[in-house]
Amino acid sequence: MNKDALMTFDRQHLFHPVLPPHVHEEHGALILESAKGAYVKDIDGHELLDGFSGLWCVNAGYGHESIINAAHEQLKTLPYATGYFHFASEPTIQLAKRLADLAPGNLNKVYFTLGGSDAVDSAIRLIRFYFNSLGKLNKKNIIALEKGYHGSSSTGAGLTALPVFHQKFDLPLAWQHHIPSHYPYRNGEGLSDQEIINKSVSDLKAKVEQLGGPDHVAAFFCEPVQGSGGVIVPPTGYLKAMRDTCRELDILFLADEVITGFGRTGPMFACETEGVVPDMMTVAKGLTSGYAPMGALLMGDHIYDVIADGAGNTPVGHGFTYSGHPVSAAIGLAVLDLYESGGLLDNGQKVGNYFEQKLRGLSDHPLIGEVRTAGMLAGIELVVDKTNKTKPSAALQVSPKMYKEGYKNGLIFRAFADDVIGFAPPLCCTVSDIDILIARFEKTLNNVLNIEEIRNEV
Ligand code: PMP
Repeated sequence: MNKDALMTFDRQHLFHPVLPPHVHEEHGALILESAKGAYVKDIDGHELLDGFSGLWCVNAGYGHESIINAAHEQLKTLPYATGYFHFASEPTIQLAKRLADLAPGNLNKVYFTLGGSDAVDSAIRLIRFYFNSLGKLNKKNIIALEKGYHGSSSTGAGLTALPVFHQKFDLPLAWQHHIPSHYPYRNGEGLSDQEIINKSVSDLKAKVEQLGGPDHVAAFFCEPVQGSGGVIVPPTGYLKAMRDTCRELDILFLADEVITGFGRTGPMFACETEGVVPDMMTVAKGLTSGYAPMGALLMGDHIYDVIADGAGNTPVGHGFTYSGHPVSAAIGLAVLDLYESGGLLDNGQKVGNYFEQKLRGLSDHPLIGEVRTAGMLAGIELVVDKTNKTKPSAALQVSPKMYKEGYKNGLIFRAFADDVIGFAPPLCCTVSDIDILIARFEKTLNNVLNIEEIRNEV
């Protein structure tokens, strides 16, 4: 099909996620055609360095033979097996075992999903089942962070704290609550790292108190690094302090590692950095490196035991046709091999250090207020006044201009609506890929700075 026809049918029939539909109809689709390593090519043959790994997911890069072969072999051998009626398949069992071995502490039970949203949704449902099994019938409230993202399911989207996920969707629900993000750059009060941590702990305690005490609160959810809220990296010690507070309050701690898992911030899971063992952990994206849909909810033995005992001889009524899909699982195994024996995790750490250093080298740029990094994950806060941390006025549309200019310069990144730029390059990037990324980003920043109305505001 030629490009014109594709563009027309896209406008007529494809409802794109998280876009204003009419704006998209006007803009038209950016159709990608092929990809290799860290680079994608669009339908016009324009080559772009994918500085966002698709949607923070193609950690291994594109076109990996070992992943393609694993999928091919599995498609030939057994393209589908359900997990219902006691059925299972070899790759699914093996992947569950590998994940349990890799995950921190006693996160030994794996519930496979199709992605991150249904991993969060599964967590919510099973947390309900857990507390009802314990006879703690009032523990219903769940607390998450402002600026947090926990997917787009009809319940999870209420824990997500981005306004467009709530407006006109009748969210958040009555049992969904948020406390302020740690957000060091904009905490507004000039607090030290330790003071930010202390404030977050007391915000959580105060919220629990306000909700009637621990008997009324089930869990606290957070991302080890907030992703879709603008790549907000917490002060060191934050995660551990929040985990410990949850234990003290007798509420469950869920780490949403959908973005941060699988080497994105350096270690296999970001929780490891502070020796944190959550009660539950959600993963997706890097699990299959985006080659097939798959996510998972990992739960501690103490959670599983209560659920299993609570169910007795009655089925736990939670299931998806494609839970533990064997092709996705085979892909997951091939991807885990790459992280481990394939050296992808090590490469991500090494190149991640270089990436951090090079990005920080751009800190003096007039448009950059702050560079935040955690391995191969970065957020750049754009400002027009570095001292006062003033954001560009909304009318300037700096984010869309950055994206457009970046695309022209052969670079894909995320341009968040509130003028934060997000990077999550594939972990397979070489040092020279990073040099290309930085050069194209610097050029993009300079071109945008040279737009007259933007220059006037700086
Ligand atoms: N949790 C987090 C932290 C995420 O970043 C995302 C996706 N960006 C999700 C959950 C939802 O995952 P999915 O889009 O695969 O449903």
